Amino acid sequence: MLSKKFKNLKAYVPGEQPGNAEYIKLNTNEAFLPLPECAWDFALQNMRELSLYPDPECKALHREIADLYKVSPGEVITANGSDELLNFAFLAYGDADHPFAFPDISYGFYEVFAQVNGIPFEKIKLDEEFRIRVRDYIDIRKNIVIANPNAPTGIALSKAQIEEIVCSNPNHVVVIDEAYVDFGAQSCLELIHTYNNLLVCRTFSKSRSAAGLRLGYGFACEELIRELHTIRYSINPYNINSFSMSMGIGILKAEQEIRKNIEKTVENREYLQKQLKALGFRVLDSEANFLFASHEKISGENLYLKLKESKILVRHFSKERIQNFVRITIGSIAQMDALTDSLKRILEEQDAQR
Ligand SMILES: *Cc1c(COP(=O)(O)O)cnc(C)c1O
Repeated sequence: MLSKKFKNLKAYVPGEQPGNAEYIKLNTNEAFLPLPECAWDFALQNMRELSLYPDPECKALHREIADLYKVSPGEVITANGSDELLNFAFLAYGDADHPFAFPDISYGFYEVFAQVNGIPFEKIKLDEEFRIRVRDYIDIRKNIVIANPNAPTGIALSKAQIEEIVCSNPNHVVVIDEAYVDFGAQSCLELIHTYNNLLVCRTFSKSRSAAGLRLGYGFACEELIRELHTIRYSINPYNINSFSMSMGIGILKAEQEIRKNIEKTVENREYLQKQLKALGFRVLDSEANFLFASHEKISGENLYLKLKESKILVRHFSKERIQNFVRITIGSIAQMDALTDSLKRILEEQDAQR
C-alpha cells in the first residue's frame, strides 16, 4: 500500500541499542557521563502539569538557550532531536530548483531527508585524507549541509572556512550541523548575525548527556527562524513535550557540570588515541566524542564482529571508502582500557592465523 513515491526509499539505520548492560556500548556517540543531579531536580520541580498541552512557543526554553548563547529568542528554534530540525530545513528550503549538497561521507540521515522529501541532492567527495575540500562548496548554488566536526570522521573545519562557504552562496541556505562542536571545534554561531542564509543546528544528545530526551536546537537570523516555525507549526506545534522542556532548561542551568563532563571526554579521547596509535591503528584527527580508526591487519567488519563477540559494540559502515574503519565512541577510562585489551588480543589472534 506504500505510496509509489516511497518505493525506493531506504530508511536510516540507527546504531544497535541492546536493552541490557551486557555490552560496553561505544557505537552511537552517547555521553558516558550521566546528567547532573541538579538537572533532574529542576526538571521534576518545574514541569508543567501533564494534563495541559506543552507551551507551543517554548518560551521559557528558548529564553534559557538565548541567554546562554547570547542571542535573542527570535533567533532560536527547538525540535524533537536535531534530526527533526534538519528535516524541517530540508522541507523548508529544498525542491527541484533548490537541491541540497553534502559530503559523500557524512551523517547518513542527510540523504534520507532528501529522499523522503523528494529533493534532488549531490554528494561531494571528501579528499584522500577524508577532509572536506572547501573549494568544492564555493558558489555552488545549492543548499548545503555540513556536519562540523564531520561524522564519522571527526575532522573539523575552522570558522573562517565555514564563512567562506556561507558567504559564497548567498541565495541558498547553508546548514552547519554542530552536533559535536562542544568537543573542541570552533562554532560558527556568531555568523548568524552577519549572514541571513546560515542555520546552525545543535543537540542535547551528545555533549549534554541527554540522547533519550530528544531535544535539538538551532540558531539563525529571525527571518529563517520564522520560516522554520511555519514548517514546525504545519507538522507538530507540540514537538517539545513538557518534560523535555523543563529538563532542557535544567540541563542548561547545569552548564558548569556539563563543561566538566566535556573536558573529561576530551581527555579520554586523547588517552584512547594514544593507545590506538601504539597498537598500529590509523586514527583520524577527531574533535568529536568518537575516534574513526582502521588497522591494516584486519578489516573494519571483522574488527566490529570480533569486538562484538567480546561484548564491545562499535559502529561499522559498509560504505566503500570507509569500510576498513570503525567508529568508536569515547567512554570511561575503564571502558577504554577494556577496549584496548580486547583489541590487543584480536590483533594477536590475527597474527597467529597468518
Ligand atoms: C547524533 C547526530 C545528530 C542527531 O542528533 P539528535 O539531536 O539526537 O537527533 C545530528 N547530526 C549528527 C552529525 C549527529 O551525529
